[in-house]
Amino acid sequence: MKTESGIPYPASIACYLCGGDSPLTREVRPVPIGARTVVVEDEFYRCPRCDEVVYLGSMADETSRRATAVVRAEDGLLVPDAIVALREKYGLTQAGLERLIGAGEKTVVRWERGTVAQNQTADTLLRVLDAHPDVVAQLAKERGVELRKRAPARRTRASRRTTAAPAKESRAKAAG
Ligand SMILES: [Zn+2]
Repeated sequence: MKTESGIPYPASIACYLCGGDSPLTREVRPVPIGARTVVVEDEFYRCPRCDEVVYLGSMADETSRRATAVVRAEDGLLVPDAIVALREKYGLTQAGLERLIGAGEKTVVRWERGTVAQNQTADTLLRVLDAHPDVVAQLAKERGVELRKRAPARRTRASRRTTAAPAKESRAKAAG
């Protein structure tokens, strides 16, 4: 495996605890993910002297991605590409989809990156949104989320980052 910049990982590194020469190790082993454990290929450095394990660069993310893919397959959850397609179908940004469904910041980012799987409830919600544009439109209106069509949005509003003003607006609308 290579680093994000394309440079291969070193064959070994010095253990930061004891200085022992820790080789790059690839093992198929149980990896904890959420409340369960799945068996996937895991790549890391392990110190033969003190057993310390170190992940460099994107190694931990790669393992998370593999483990999450297993969870998604086992549970029949939408894959990352399907979530991207659903979001883009409605012209939503990642932050826009998060706001639309009341998910925490970066939640959709992690789903789409594949490092975290949505739970069954969120998966059901995504499927409902996919099948019902009217629900998406209604939620977008209530929560002050902009739905962009394929044409590029007006740049002047794209930098709007604070949620204070639109949220107030949406509360007023929701109350009325
Ligand atoms: Zn060590």
